[in-house]
Amino acid sequence: MVRLSVSRHATRSRSQPYRKQPQVRAIDAAQSFDSESKQSENLHRCKSLKIGVVGFGNFGQFLTKRFIYGGHTVIATSRTDYSDEAVGLGATFFGDVHDFCEEHPDVVIFCTSILSLESTMYNFPFQRLKRNTLFCDVLSVKSFPKQLFQQILPSHFDILCLHPMFGPDSGKDSWQDLPLVYDKVRIGVDDSRAERCASLLRFFELQGCRMVEMSCEEHDRQAASSQFITHTVGRMLGTMELAETTISTKGFDSLMSLVDNTYHDSFDLYYGLFIYNENASAELARLELAFDQVKGQLFGRLHELIRREHFGEQIKGADARNLK
Ligand code: NAP
Repeated sequence: MVRLSVSRHATRSRSQPYRKQPQVRAIDAAQSFDSESKQSENLHRCKSLKIGVVGFGNFGQFLTKRFIYGGHTVIATSRTDYSDEAVGLGATFFGDVHDFCEEHPDVVIFCTSILSLESTMYNFPFQRLKRNTLFCDVLSVKSFPKQLFQQILPSHFDILCLHPMFGPDSGKDSWQDLPLVYDKVRIGVDDSRAERCASLLRFFELQGCRMVEMSCEEHDRQAASSQFITHTVGRMLGTMELAETTISTKGFDSLMSLVDNTYHDSFDLYYGLFIYNENASAELARLELAFDQVKGQLFGRLHELIRREHFGEQIKGADARNLK
């Protein structure tokens, strides 16, 4: 059995100051919901797919709701029994992963936690699927699932890595202009395979997503300084338990919305962003250094003031002697 070794240690040293990367933003404000009529008008442009969701937790259910709304059929499987939730959303739940595979979905999307992807994959009965199946993931790190898929999946499966850069909080209303990063890692040359991949991508496009084609490696490089730092700061502020005040500024409201958009995500997700993105520890070190520098500026000036208050006359004298 081939196991991936995932480096926890950052390989990139960065002396450049932070620069905003306009292509990818981790958190975006929710915008107004598109009208139902406009959505249904667009449906005929998008081929209906049978989509199999593996991992029916928070994000799996969030995606399912939209897939069904977009006219696709969804079957789901997960470690926990989510039969009732599936019925509520209009999906079909299979507690047995073999039964799930024997339903022969066109697309299988892994929505498991980053930490459990490898074990879930190794226990997944691929042989029960159609030989022509499109494999996707929506993990918030990208190089790790890409490498795992390439190592484990038989060559007759197509591979499309996805990262909707929003979640149940930031994308609860509209997905308009929210980034969807994708990497067509391996799509067969047949028209039907290309069309299936295009149909899935078109679904996100029709929901209003800003489509960003990007390699998984580039995604991880950029996401470490945007998404991981966003989650880290959101968690730090959430841990402070800041409360609304009657005189809150717009800046403070933005901080509170950052907490809302990150603090409710599972710790597994956050830990996965750290441990399965080799760029994350360097960014954490840069954040820590920046915090120390800012604190250093404050205390540096304060210490100077106190020093002058206590030793003002002696300092003046010493300065004068040094000048001689
Ligand atoms: P999560 O904590 O990252 O993942 C929860 C899912 O992982 C559940 O379906 C859970 O199954 C499954 N899982 C956890 N441990 C498992 C194990 N040992 N064995 C098998 N399955 C296990 O929370 P999430 O928010 O739902 O995220 C799911 C995926 O979507 C993650 O890869 C995340 O990076 C990605 N994503 C999330 C967001 C977001 O905003 N939340 C945005 C974009 C992408 P059970 O519930 O059955 O236990």
